[in-house]
Amino acid sequence: MKIIMLGAPGAGKGTQAKQIAAKYDIPHISTGDIFRANIKNNTELGQKAKTYMDQGLLVPDELTCDLVVDRIQQDDCKTGFVLDGFPRTIPQAEALENALAKLGQSMDYAIDVDVPDENIVNRMSGRRACLKCGATYHIVSIPPKKEGVCDNCGSELVIRDDDKPETVQKRLNVYHEQTQPLIDFYSNKGILKSVDGTQPMDRVFADIVNILGA
Ligand code: ADP
Ligand code: ADP
Ligand code: ZN
Repeated sequence: MKIIMLGAPGAGKGTQAKQIAAKYDIPHISTGDIFRANIKNNTELGQKAKTYMDQGLLVPDELTCDLVVDRIQQDDCKTGFVLDGFPRTIPQAEALENALAKLGQSMDYAIDVDVPDENIVNRMSGRRACLKCGATYHIVSIPPKKEGVCDNCGSELVIRDDDKPETVQKRLNVYHEQTQPLIDFYSNKGILKSVDGTQPMDRVFADIVNILGA
């Protein structure tokens, strides 16, 4: 099963993608997580990506597409994968489509987690992230058991650099300009499914399972 998660920054793509990956036993591929791991390890890719991420801008397609195209050809992707945060532009979607076509494959579902802009600011200001294991919490709706500490691995939770209010608005604008057109793109391919992302996390997941099959 090959799945794309679409939705605004903070809509809950990562939260749902992690659950999908666990239930259907497929890898969760988050370009944001890959970039953040590279920043943490101070790689060349990380240094380049950071300058864009800190401004709320997209990392250029040249730095992003090959990374994903290589990743989805690894052995663990044979039975499928869930892409979270990629594609984010039409050229990225086309690069993905071409790479899969060469392998005689195509995506099965693009799931749009639909959340209006007015809810997004609250989602992002309350987001707390574990940079060690990638877990994500929300101080009000999905709090960790112990404040500021990751349930999974015990590391300290942080506010992402790009979740500051001034950057959030920029990221929303970028989403509307560059990523939202993908909704029509995948609708035209006949694989778009939308879920109401304003519901509690478990209800959103139940809707997704209804689409994907139990
Ligand atoms: P969110 O979960 O809030 O949507 P992500 O973790 O997916 O954020 O992405 C964080 C940042 O990483 C983005 O704002 C962007 O700068 C960069 N990024 C992630 N994925 C991509 C991509 N596919 N193309 C370009 N930039 C990306
Ligand atoms: P994205 O990957 O789309 O940027 P996340 O999965 O990181 O979004 O979620 C953004 C924030 O909203 C996080 O703090 C997360 O804990 C919280 N969140 C996710 N899903 C829900 C939900 N259904 N209801 C309330 N808060 C949620
Ligand atoms: Zn953790």
